[in-house]
Amino acid sequence: MKARLVIASNNEKKKRELLQIIGDLDLEIATLKEFPQAPVVEEDGLTFQENAVKKAREIAEFTGCLTLADDSGLEVDALGGLPGVHSARFAGEPSDDERNNRKLLEMLEGVPAQERTARFRCVIAIAFPDGRVETAEGTCEGRIGFEPRGQGGFGYDPLFIPDGYDLTFAELNPEVKNSISHRGKALQKAIKLLQSIHSG
Ligand code: IMP
Repeated sequence: MKARLVIASNNEKKKRELLQIIGDLDLEIATLKEFPQAPVVEEDGLTFQENAVKKAREIAEFTGCLTLADDSGLEVDALGGLPGVHSARFAGEPSDDERNNRKLLEMLEGVPAQERTARFRCVIAIAFPDGRVETAEGTCEGRIGFEPRGQGGFGYDPLFIPDGYDLTFAELNPEVKNSISHRGKALQKAIKLLQSIHSG
């Protein structure tokens, strides 16, 4: 029988990206939709690592299944690393991508191209039913544009131009984004961890 892997995410677009990348694994993949009573885990950690571990651990405890959780966000150098762990709710509650992007552009007004460096960071935590937790991290370096461009992706994608490209994440083909993104890189490492459990 296939082992079950629960993906601890409620963000439908993020979940779709995760599934695109790990779809080939020999695991039965479930999401939180199948556990409507699962606790809502508060992301109150100071780092992506803390939040990812907390989410994976609490959902694994609740479901009794192998659980994968991620925490991710954008760090802008000219803003001392903001929005960081506050990426989802940068412009306040409720989380709103368009307002977040507008706030980011306002805060970067007057900042020239060469000082608009930034990176996406993602930490994936895998919690095993025996209480063990392993983590994998991925980053993607780039810069913040001067206006939103493109329709794809989510979050800050219309503003983020990865190094080596002139297109934003929202303009790039999703397969290209997955192959270079923070989440794609963290997942490649996480998949190796999952395979190692699998092969005993
Ligand atoms: P999380 O759901 O707590 O990990 O929050 C992540 C937030 O960071 C999202 O709501 C987005 O604002 C931002 N973010 C993370 N990954 C990406 C990405 O791949 N593209 C655009 N924004 C992202």
